Amino acid sequence: MSSTHAESVAIIGGGFSGVMTGVNLARLRARPLHLTLINQSRPLGRGAAYGTRRPEHLLNVAARNMSAFPDQPDHFLQWLRTRFEYEDLPEAELRGKFVPRRVYGDYLSNLLREHLRTPGAVSLEQTTFLEGEVVAVQAERRHARVQLADGREVRATKVVLATGNEAPAGFPGEAELAAHPGWVGNPWVAWEDRLPAGGGNVVVLGTGLSAVDALLTLQARNWTGTVQVVSRHARLPEAHFRGIANPEFPPPGVDLTSLGLTGLVALMERHCARLRAQGANPAIVVDQLRPHTQRIWRHLSTAEKREFIRDHAARWNVQRHRIAPEIHAEITAAVNSGRVSLEAARVERVVAEGPRLRVELSGREPLIGDLVINATGPQTRFTETRSVLLQNLLRTGLVVPDELDLGLRVDEDHTVLDRSGARSPFLLALGPLLRGTLWETIAVPELRGQARRVAETILDHPPLADTLPPLVMMEYMI
Ligand SMILES: Cc1cc2nc3c(=O)[nH]c(=O)nc-3n(C[C@H](O)[C@H](O)[C@H](O)COP(=O)(O)OP(=O)(O)OC[C@H]3O[C@@H](n4cnc5c(N)ncnc54)[C@H](O)[C@@H]3O)c2cc1C
Repeated sequence: MSSTHAESVAIIGGGFSGVMTGVNLARLRARPLHLTLINQSRPLGRGAAYGTRRPEHLLNVAARNMSAFPDQPDHFLQWLRTRFEYEDLPEAELRGKFVPRRVYGDYLSNLLREHLRTPGAVSLEQTTFLEGEVVAVQAERRHARVQLADGREVRATKVVLATGNEAPAGFPGEAELAAHPGWVGNPWVAWEDRLPAGGGNVVVLGTGLSAVDALLTLQARNWTGTVQVVSRHARLPEAHFRGIANPEFPPPGVDLTSLGLTGLVALMERHCARLRAQGANPAIVVDQLRPHTQRIWRHLSTAEKREFIRDHAARWNVQRHRIAPEIHAEITAAVNSGRVSLEAARVERVVAEGPRLRVELSGREPLIGDLVINATGPQTRFTETRSVLLQNLLRTGLVVPDELDLGLRVDEDHTVLDRSGARSPFLLALGPLLRGTLWETIAVPELRGQARRVAETILDHPPLADTLPPLVMMEYMI
C-alpha cells in the first residue's frame, strides 16, 4: 500500500499521544490534510494505560485533571456527565473522582470517532487507520517513507513518533522464560487467567503503579494464596489527599530555575519540615512544583540530573505518583493483614524451577513464585529499546539519545534533533520518549499540551498561550 499527498501526516502510535495529536490536527487545520494513524497490537485510542478491561484499575489522576484538551479544562467532566453512572453526582464529588481507566479509554475512543472517523464539520476529510508495526522511517527527497513490518508503506510530509510506554525491562535469564506459564513479562497484558487454581505464591517485582494494579486484580479475583512484593526500597505509592493552602511555597520572588539541585533540595526539605511540623502532608510541595518541574529540569546540568536520578528519584516518585485513597486503603489493609508481604531487596535474576520460578535476590534468600509478574514500570534506557523502529532510527542517526539515555532529543516545538544536532525536516515526537528532555512527560496533564503543540508545529499555528496562572494550573494537574 502506498499513498502520497501534498500535506500528509503519519502518526506512529495510537495511544493518548497519537490520537490526541490527530484530534488537534483536525481541530486546528485550515487546509485539507491527510492523516494516517498507525498502531500496533493495543486497541486504538487506549494504549497501555486505558486498554485495561479490569474495572478495579482506576485512574491515578482525579477526573477534574483528565481533560484531553489544554484549552478546555472541564471537557472530561462534561463527557462523564453523559454517562448514567456520573450524571447525578454532585459536582465536587465528580471532580475528585478516580474513575476506571477503561472509562477513560471510552472517552478517547469517542474523541477519535468524533474528530477522525466521522466525516463532517469537526473531522478530517480523510484519515487512514492502519494496524501494524512500523519498523523504519526513511528520508526521501520530498517526503518520508514509513515502512511497516508486513511490507506496507506510507509516504508523508511529517511523521510523529508517539510510541509511548515500552513494556518493563527484563531481568537476566528472562529470555529462557518467554514460554514459561508462570512468567508475566508484561503486566499490561491480561494475566489473571494464568493464576494457579489451587492457590500458591505470587511474586510481584516492583512496588509502583503497575504493582498496585496487580495487587488490585489479585484482590478482585479473590486470590487466597500468598503474595510477595519486592523492590529495592519496598515502598508502595502514597495516597492522594486534600492539600492545604500553602502560599509560602514556592517562596514568592524566588527563581526556582536558578537554585541548582542542592539549593532546590534544601528549599524543599525546609518546607517539608515546616509542613510536617504543622501536621500537614509534605507531598504538597511536590504538587506545587508540578507547573514548574519541566522548566527546572531544563535548567539543571547533566551532572545534577544524574545526581537527582541516583539520589532523589525513588523518593520523588513515591510522592509524585500517588494513587486514589480508596485503592491505597485496600492495599494497606492487605499488607497489614499479612496477605501481602513487602520485601526490600534487589532482584538479581529470575530462573525457572520446574513449574515454578525462583527470584534470586542480592544478599537474601530467593523467593519462589507460582506466578511472577514483572511490574517494574516501563523500560527507560533508550538505547536498549526493544522497538525495531527506534533501533533503526538510532542506527541511521535520524534520532539521538538525550544526555541521560532516557529518550530522544527534541527541540522546544517537538521537532526531533538528529545525530548532528540538526532539526529533522519531518520527524516530531511526544510523550514518554521525552523523559530525558522534560522529566515530567508521561501523564495526561502534560501530554494534552504536547499533543496540541505538535499539531501547532505541523500546521505552523501560533502556540496556545498559558492561560492559567500556576496555582490554578496546579488544580488542573494533580
Ligand atoms: C498502566 C498505566 C496506567 C496509567 N495511568 C494513568 C492515569 O491514570 N493518568 C494519567 O494521566 N496517566 C496515566 N498513565 C501514564 C500514561 O503514560 C499516559 O497517560 C498515556 O497513556 C501515554 O500515552 P502514549 O500514547 O504516549 O503511550 P501508549 O499508551 O504507550 O501508546 C503508544 C501506542 O503506540 C503503539 N506503538 C508503539 N510502537 C509502535 C510501532 N513501531 N508501530 C506502531 N505502533 C506502535 C503501541 O502499541 C501503543 O498502542 C498510565 C500509564 C500506565 C502504563
